[in-house]
Amino acid sequence: MSFDPGLQAGDVVTNQQLCEIFKCGNSGGMRRTRRFNTLVIISDHTKGIYSDQWINKILYYTGMGKTGDQVLNGNQNITLYESNINGVSVYLFEVYVEREYTYRGRVKLAKEPYQTNQADVNGVMRKVWMFPMKLEQDNASIECNVDEKLVDRLAELTDEEINRIEYVHTPKPKEKGSPIVRNDIKIYPRSDKTAINALAYAGFVCEINSSHPTFIRRNSRKNYVEPHHLIPMRYSEEFDYSLDVEENIVSLCSNCHNQLHYGRDYEVLLERLYNERKDLLERVKLHVTLERLKDMYK
Ligand SMILES: [Zn+2]
Repeated sequence: MSFDPGLQAGDVVTNQQLCEIFKCGNSGGMRRTRRFNTLVIISDHTKGIYSDQWINKILYYTGMGKTGDQVLNGNQNITLYESNINGVSVYLFEVYVEREYTYRGRVKLAKEPYQTNQADVNGVMRKVWMFPMKLEQDNASIECNVDEKLVDRLAELTDEEINRIEYVHTPKPKEKGSPIVRNDIKIYPRSDKTAINALAYAGFVCEINSSHPTFIRRNSRKNYVEPHHLIPMRYSEEFDYSLDVEENIVSLCSNCHNQLHYGRDYEVLLERLYNERKDLLERVKLHVTLERLKDMYK
């Protein structure tokens, strides 16, 4: 798991706060912290010695070295150069107003770094390294959209369609389907049938509390409840078997579902659901501890 600075994109911090958060040095445009395996890069637009530029969502970031030709080795240029393979997480800050460091988020190389000519601090032309960086896709939000679509599809089902799904279930591990890749993120398919099975199994009530108010579906007399993958699908890579199984899908009222995703007390709900499901999860070879599960929701 990568280091979490506890910042939202757009947050503004001072240099001192930045150093405290990342436990890094207080000067330079690239600041490595071995302890966290992080590299902070700062694009300072107030200094005017580097010509960093955003073009089509890619920041062309100039490497380290104020005079003479920039070199890759013996400094953090090599760390950034290898950042897609060396496991270092890279965090971008931009400075447009002196002493205000605006956090942009985690970034990664969008293309191969390359050399070009720029003037150095003394106005002498020299070779610099350029690093095309792009913001990492917000994995969680992409997955969220996919889950919302599943909920929408199920909401449209009629009684007839629901009844046609015969609920026979024997717990057994399911092979993972083939993911589709979107923006470098692997997205594993969700089966409507599996989700509706899970809801049927729960009797179309909220598993946190069966008396939680729900409403009747538009096309069906069943209660409206929402399927939720207890171990989020975006962690599929961590498991040998599919997360899209009845054992991993809980039935929730909209309120509990929201609370689990965005609420303050999600940990309480999570713990209850985990305790209800952990044996079933084991039976389908999905091994997860409560601690790890809580981590996934942070
Ligand atoms: Zn509920």
